[in-house]
Amino acid sequence: MSPRATRLLFGAVVAGLAIAALRLPTPKFGDPRVLFGDMAAPDLQPWTQHDTLGRGETLTGLLARRGLSNTEASNVVRATPLNPRRIPAGMPVELRGDTTDSRPQEIRFRLAVDRIMRVARSGDSWAATEEVLPWTVDTVLLRGTVREHLYQAIGEGSDSLLAGRARDELAWAIADIYEYKIDMSRELQQGDQVRALFERHIAPDGTMKIGTVIAAGLQRAGTEIQAYRMVQPDGRVRYYDERGRSLAATFLRAPLQFRRISSNFGRRRHPILGTMRAHQGMDYAANAGTPVRAIGDGTVIFAGTRGGYGNVVELRHINGMVTRYAHLRGFAKGIRRGARVSIGEEIAYVGSTGLSTAPHLHFEVLIGGVHRDPRRALATAEAGPALTGSAFAQFEAVRDGVSFALEQPAGIVRALGN
Ligand SMILES: [Zn+2]
Repeated sequence: MSPRATRLLFGAVVAGLAIAALRLPTPKFGDPRVLFGDMAAPDLQPWTQHDTLGRGETLTGLLARRGLSNTEASNVVRATPLNPRRIPAGMPVELRGDTTDSRPQEIRFRLAVDRIMRVARSGDSWAATEEVLPWTVDTVLLRGTVREHLYQAIGEGSDSLLAGRARDELAWAIADIYEYKIDMSRELQQGDQVRALFERHIAPDGTMKIGTVIAAGLQRAGTEIQAYRMVQPDGRVRYYDERGRSLAATFLRAPLQFRRISSNFGRRRHPILGTMRAHQGMDYAANAGTPVRAIGDGTVIFAGTRGGYGNVVELRHINGMVTRYAHLRGFAKGIRRGARVSIGEEIAYVGSTGLSTAPHLHFEVLIGGVHRDPRRALATAEAGPALTGSAFAQFEAVRDGVSFALEQPAGIVRALGN
């Protein structure tokens, strides 16, 4: 064990004894608690102050505000490799000292949830060390039921399993997995069920993030589309249904990534149903500049300005289908008449040009010059290509290793087949 680790462990033991001492009768002389307490005294850090860097405040400014002299404050900052201009406002700072001195013994800058810069004082000199704190990883099964929207289903299913932004991250990851099957911002219905088996990463301060989604299930109208993650020989990740058929299809179900659609729009119960007939398209509220993606492979047949549409792109796809993307702020590089685009390619950016009062994407699908409901026109009845041969055998091993976990009640899954 390193000296520091020993000290920490020792400190923890002492702290534990101190807590125990509060609950127990006063220890008598000769009691080990007395002995430990005496020995540990120089190592104890009886005071800690917490602060955060203010907007526009410098590190030296903060330290001076905390009572350090200007010289000492600049010595602290100079001891670190930090670029004072790169420190974001809101960074937590901790000052620690002992009872023998009002000057801090150690100052900790929390650079990230898993990175701390410790600056320790010895006499009048300061020395910095950076510490990277390990995240823990476990595997979690979450189940949710849609009453209003995907965020609500994941949020309610999260209970104690996920906190903060990790809930949204999981919703985004699930929407990505099913992006060829369903537009999660408007096609989910009350009673639809979602489950996901995923890696959960937890930082020392409790911050969570979503790692790999290993498998998922989306049940709609009694039918479930399962999704199992497989890494392709070329290194790309794809999801397959329980029979080994790719979830990828000819068209994406929405021209914006679910995570890019304004969350209050995604959280709306009945998004813009009434406007469909009014202007024969679908509206997606998103920030100006949000990338717009080609819904499928195709050719640019128009990229320019046209009346109320403002800046607009039109793509021609197989079977004479045309998609139109309007009110754009601008076009992606190389997007001009005749250019070929691939499914998912960035073609333009959300804006508010033409007859538009706020940034949003207006999206239309036409077949033979006639407007179609995108929800129907982009639906794929056909299943994706199925895995064969050794790839299928590999898939079966993956599927059978995790399908048991998928059947468990929501919670932390301890044992996995792979
Ligand atoms: Zn519109």
